Amino acid sequence: MSHQPYSFFQSVERSFDKAANFTKWDKGILEQIKACNSIYSMRFPVKLDDGSIEVIEAYRVQHSQHKSPCKGGIRFSDEVNQDEVMALASLMTYKCAIVNVPFGGGKGGIKINPRNYSVYELEKITRRYTSELVKKNFIGPGIDVPAPDYGTGEREMAWIVDTYTSLKPGEIDAAGCVTGKPITQGGVRGRKEATGLGVFFGIREVCNMTDIMERQGLKPGIEGKTIVVQGLGNVGYHTAKFFREAGAKVVALAEYEGAIFNAEGLNEEEVFQHRKATGSILNFPGATNLEKNTDALELDCDILIPAALENVINKDNAPRVKAKIIGEAANGPCTPEADEEFARRNILCVPDMYLNAGGVTVSYFEWLKNLSHVRYGRMEKRFTENMNSHILGQIEELSGKEVSDKERKFIMHGPEEQDLVHSGLEETMITATREIMEIWKADPSIPDMRTAAYISAINKVATSYAELGIFP
Ligand code: GLU
Repeated sequence: MSHQPYSFFQSVERSFDKAANFTKWDKGILEQIKACNSIYSMRFPVKLDDGSIEVIEAYRVQHSQHKSPCKGGIRFSDEVNQDEVMALASLMTYKCAIVNVPFGGGKGGIKINPRNYSVYELEKITRRYTSELVKKNFIGPGIDVPAPDYGTGEREMAWIVDTYTSLKPGEIDAAGCVTGKPITQGGVRGRKEATGLGVFFGIREVCNMTDIMERQGLKPGIEGKTIVVQGLGNVGYHTAKFFREAGAKVVALAEYEGAIFNAEGLNEEEVFQHRKATGSILNFPGATNLEKNTDALELDCDILIPAALENVINKDNAPRVKAKIIGEAANGPCTPEADEEFARRNILCVPDMYLNAGGVTVSYFEWLKNLSHVRYGRMEKRFTENMNSHILGQIEELSGKEVSDKERKFIMHGPEEQDLVHSGLEETMITATREIMEIWKADPSIPDMRTAAYISAINKVATSYAELGIFP
């Protein structure tokens, strides 16, 4: 964005350097970790519905191959440029390392506003982009695995897997060339809500840490907390949903056309339906309209969740942010200057590259499902239910008492795919939160949680290089 003194990629580099000072790694190793390894910039023509031909600008960046495949979403946005995709690919490397997902970082982008194209045009663009990636060996279950990101979803992933499979006949693991697919095309149950659920699990864990909450002047727990969510896309929608279901109050929601506020709390599904029907989030019954969508970022609340694009909280508006905790559901929503302001004012910023890792974590589960060719729970569900039933029967017989029907149902239940995916995600987010907090607490001179998260990432990637024998 224009008022930024440096680019998005440079701001990622700055955060990296800030953290690198706290590590013991050789300068050369740090340079290698930071560098974007492979950058594919492409142009291809697409014939639009009106017969005209448009040249499309697109990218795929593989930031790191210290683990294979590379992993990261593909975004469709007018703002796409090489620098942005490089920054986002770097964040993927660090994100995967922090949550112990064994992938390198990658990202793709197509410079289009999907609203300006018909579904048929979008399909042509997506399929052509995929075949360009195939031609240059930039996609494949063991090479580089895209996923949804801003402006893309299950539909685009279905086009990608179909194009890839038709170009690679007989490749038995072809379904693992992309994640975030519809269930019928090899997707996994629980992927769609994964990023939002991960954001919720991460923040919930932070809110359960009594010392941290005391420092923020908040009571532990999620219940009763006031939340502002910027962005009602897949990530923002699901984040709002899980917070509301846990007893928090979502007092404001923002989209690009404006923002709405209701101190009593908003229901994201009702707002979503209202937006679908009227074309705008504004004029939602019972809520007040806010003039600018960015006004929502400056509201008084406990937790602010930017869930749209990068650089939205910067040196200009950071001094006016009143939230006590910021949960970065988007990638790169706060600039390094905003970080400095937050550190000064004791605002806790829970950083993107671990907090929004739920998406890639469940993508990992989807990829494993594709490689194993079996649905989660298929082998053990019935066995577990039989075993639980037997154990319960024995307990009841020996104690002479019976449990309630509700309890019986709960105890008997064998795991289904979604149960396993959600619990795998919960475990991942809790572990990552604790690991980062431990790093932070161990050294009081570490200025913020982002720096602690970067230290965790750098240590893991550097160790992995060292283990590969690349760096003696
Ligand atoms: N686009 C998401 C992210 O930024 C998900 C990536 C993936 O699942 O590979 O983390």
